[in-house]
Amino acid sequence: MRGNRGGTVISLTDGHPCALHVDPIEKKPLFHFLPGSRTLSLATAGCNLSCLYCQNAGISQEGPAAESMDGTWTAEDVVRLAQARDCATVAYTYTEPIVYFEYALACARAARAAGLRNVMVSAAYCNPGPWGTLCRAMDAVNVDLKALSDAFYREVCGARLEPVLKALVQARDLGLLVEVTNLVIPTLNDGDEALTALCRWVWAELGPATPLHFSGFFPQHRLRHLPPTPPATLLRARELARAEGLRHVYLGNLELPDGANTHCANCDALLIERRGYSVRTNRLEPGGVCPACGAVCAGVWS
Ligand SMILES: [Zn+2]
Repeated sequence: MRGNRGGTVISLTDGHPCALHVDPIEKKPLFHFLPGSRTLSLATAGCNLSCLYCQNAGISQEGPAAESMDGTWTAEDVVRLAQARDCATVAYTYTEPIVYFEYALACARAARAAGLRNVMVSAAYCNPGPWGTLCRAMDAVNVDLKALSDAFYREVCGARLEPVLKALVQARDLGLLVEVTNLVIPTLNDGDEALTALCRWVWAELGPATPLHFSGFFPQHRLRHLPPTPPATLLRARELARAEGLRHVYLGNLELPDGANTHCANCDALLIERRGYSVRTNRLEPGGVCPACGAVCAGVWS
C-alpha cells in the first residue's frame, strides 16, 4: 500500500476508496454511540495483519487497486457525500484505517470541521504515536481484540498482542468511546479459559461498562476447514463475561435471544431493543438515563 515516489514514501490508496456506503452505526458494531444513526463507511484496500480467517481478504490482503472505485475522492468529497446521505458520522472500517492513515486523518479532520463525528473499526496494532494522532481525530472506536494470547496473534494474525492492549488503554485514556469485539473461532479461542482471560482483561483495564461483542465465526479465507461457531458457544461466552462482571455483552453474526439488546447496568431494565442492526425501540431518556432507575448508561447518546 506504500510506494517510493522520488525518494518519498507515499500512500498508494490515498483518495481511492474500495468502499464508500451508508450503514447503520450498529453494523460496526457500535451499540453505545448514537444508536439508530447512519454512518458513511469508508475503506481503502490493505491491512497490517494477515488473519487466516479474514472475511474481507479480497480487499485487505490484495494490492492497492483491489476493488478501487473510479476517480479520486478527496476528503471534502467524502464529507459532502456523508452530509448528502444524512450521516452523523464517517466510519473508517472494513479494512484497517491505520494502513490508510493519512487519508483517514484528512477525512476525519474535514468531517469534524463540518460538524460530523468520526468512528473507526481497527485491530489497533499500531505504535502509540500514530495511534494517538488517529484517536484524537475520532470519537469512538471498536477494536477487534482477537484473543488474549500472544501466540494466537503471532500464529493466526501475523501480529503481536501487547501493542494492541496498549492501544486499547490509550484510546480509552484519550476519551474515545471504546467497544471491543471478539470473534469466537471453534478450537482456536473458544475455550472457557481463553474467554475468561479476555473478559478479565477488559473488566480490569477498560472497565465493567465497556461494551463487549462476541461475534460468530463463519468458515472464510484460510480457515474454511473449521465449523461455524455454534450458538451455544456464544451463549456460554456471554455467561462467562457476565460472571466476570461485564455489564454490556452482545452477541453478533448470529441472531440469538436478547443478543443485541442493551440493558441497564444498574437495574437490568431493557433500554434499547435491536433486531439485527436496526433499533426497534430506544427507551433511554436524554443524557442516556434509564427510565426505570435513573442510572446513566455509559455511552454517547446525542
Ligand atoms: Zn436502570
